[in-house]
Amino acid sequence: MTHHRTCNLCEAMCGLEIELQDGQIQTIRGDQNDSFSRGHICPKAVALKDIYEDPNRLKTPLRRKGKTWEPISWEAAMEEVVTKIQAIQAQYGSNAVALYQGNPSIHNLGTMMNSSAFAKALKTKNLYSATSVDQLPHHFASWLMFGHPLLIPIPDIDRTDFMLIFGGNPLASNGSMMSVPDVAHRLRAIQERGGQVVTIDPRRSETAAKASAHHFIKPGADVYLLLALLQVIFSEKLDKPGRLADFTDGLEQLQALVAPFSPERVSGVTGLSAVAIRDLAMAFATAEKAVCYGRVGVSTQSFGGLCHWLINALNIVTGNLDQAGGAMFTTPAIDILAASKGGQRFDRWRSRVRQLPEFLGELPVAALAEEISTPGEGQIRALVTSCGNPVLSTPNGTKLEKALEGLDLMVAIDIYLNESSRHADIILPPATGLENPHYDLTFHALAVRNTAKYSPALFPKAEGAKYDYEIYQELSHRLRGEPGPFVAESPEQKLALGLQFGPYQLDFEEVKKQKHGIDLGPLEPRFPARLFTEDKRIQLYPDLLVKDLARAEQALQESTSPTFPMQLIGRRHLRDNNSWMHNAQRLMRGRDRCTLYMHPDDAENLGLKDQAQVKVSSRVGSIHLPLEITADMMPGVVCMPHGYGHHRADIRLDVASQYPGASINDLTDETVLDELTGNAAFSNVWVSVEGS
Ligand code: SF4
Repeated sequence: MTHHRTCNLCEAMCGLEIELQDGQIQTIRGDQNDSFSRGHICPKAVALKDIYEDPNRLKTPLRRKGKTWEPISWEAAMEEVVTKIQAIQAQYGSNAVALYQGNPSIHNLGTMMNSSAFAKALKTKNLYSATSVDQLPHHFASWLMFGHPLLIPIPDIDRTDFMLIFGGNPLASNGSMMSVPDVAHRLRAIQERGGQVVTIDPRRSETAAKASAHHFIKPGADVYLLLALLQVIFSEKLDKPGRLADFTDGLEQLQALVAPFSPERVSGVTGLSAVAIRDLAMAFATAEKAVCYGRVGVSTQSFGGLCHWLINALNIVTGNLDQAGGAMFTTPAIDILAASKGGQRFDRWRSRVRQLPEFLGELPVAALAEEISTPGEGQIRALVTSCGNPVLSTPNGTKLEKALEGLDLMVAIDIYLNESSRHADIILPPATGLENPHYDLTFHALAVRNTAKYSPALFPKAEGAKYDYEIYQELSHRLRGEPGPFVAESPEQKLALGLQFGPYQLDFEEVKKQKHGIDLGPLEPRFPARLFTEDKRIQLYPDLLVKDLARAEQALQESTSPTFPMQLIGRRHLRDNNSWMHNAQRLMRGRDRCTLYMHPDDAENLGLKDQAQVKVSSRVGSIHLPLEITADMMPGVVCMPHGYGHHRADIRLDVASQYPGASINDLTDETVLDELTGNAAFSNVWVSVEGS
């Protein structure tokens, strides 16, 4: 039997062809006929089988009993969770319970459709998610400029002549905030048709190695380079917004704002020569079709919001927004944007301890530990985590781990007993990947082509198990105190309605029949009709962002710390994604990937040898890991992967425990944020390195 489905492990939405014999998976291949991925897969796809068969995967609820765990019934688990949450809220108020949603939540149809109702049923303002560790600045800039936080510009990679990538490594990620399977061929095709791919990164990444040109940049300095690129474009009179000028406000103000940022002024702080900056600006502005794309490296820094504003501005000023070959907007078959309108989404309340503003109903996760551990009215006493491992994935994981120990109640909706869920009192494990039907609600809205695809479940859930939507709906039903027996509603009913009333009015039964997916064509110009701003105009000069530029001006004057003289950045490997995938043996074998990259000159200055064990320290802590000396690093910058740190004795991750590595988030600093958006500034962490 052959089963076709979409891989939901990352954003690329690759089509899979899975061969089964006697109910066992024999092979997982790329589906050559998939309308979007055209046969491409990465090594992670086979992890779907590993996860499904993983003996460490939890299938029944667990309750902590001292230092061990006991299986309990779903009824007992649900009753205990809801009773304890209600008791805590009755004693300390609604905000005493917090919810953290991890990255896999967004890759799961049932969670996507039901977790916000669960968050509402909790009636708490203490909502946190992985969004504030890597992508909040995208949403912030889109909200202020285009009127909707999900109206994200997507590079039209298949038609562009010039792709300028800031802080992104799509060859490892297969695109992020840009679903693009088979990205290697697509980038090569740009070069084969005479175009250029240029990367800006403190590391010569896998993508940089294949690019037409790569420029090292000092971590956190992208904002200055972007300002200077715009300055050159205006001063050389290369600005040509074209039809965008008819519905864009602020072009002249932006020109005046960037005027002081000449290439000569920012050369020192960025590490690029003035000539290189000027040449880059001219090449970008004179390319027939160009697109500037920024990802994790520019989101996870002190000026993430400013960076994404200026990236959008660069595309607008050169006439490359909403144009073929530029940054475009999708027309997804289910229009998730239509469900929520624009309007005020920022600073409606603040975190209790540090007074950090909310955005989109969430507080920055960098504030979570202090909200749990700081006594006083409004202190968080209970935490529910949903598909997340914040101890390894959020800044200063050590502090958060200590805070979790002090909770009155922790509930983890998770398939693994991991570094975070080990602190839970109760774990509720939902059915997993291949047991679920799937439709990518979010990533069809972020894809480089308009496509639609439904994947049926391959296997039934284990006997007595619950789907994630059943867990969220039942918890919500009980929390709301609704009368009568609980009956779960499958997400497919809402899916059918979404398709029927979407822009293509697709019939769900017809969509189901198209096992290779439906290609709905290339991205089309959508503006101004698609704008969510009240006046249907692009805001190129948003007040909040303009005011925030003062911070960047101030930082130009600041010097580095002698105690921590080097800058730390993260990296991702093609076989890494979320921390739980470290429990798939075939993704982990081979040489140790959790190493610290350092430039040869820095290693020589510090007297360090390749493969030596080194100690890396920051304001918040120290870790030990092997050194890898490579000229791919910019001098003064070191780099390590995220998602490691599997050394805790009582987690049930047999494979991951063999590859413990060290957690980058035992170094990252919860006090270092993009102060405007609240995103963690992982790329602005200063460290020292010594032999150990
Ligand atoms: S690139 Fe992403 S979607 Fe494609 S096979 Fe790999 S993990 Fe799955």
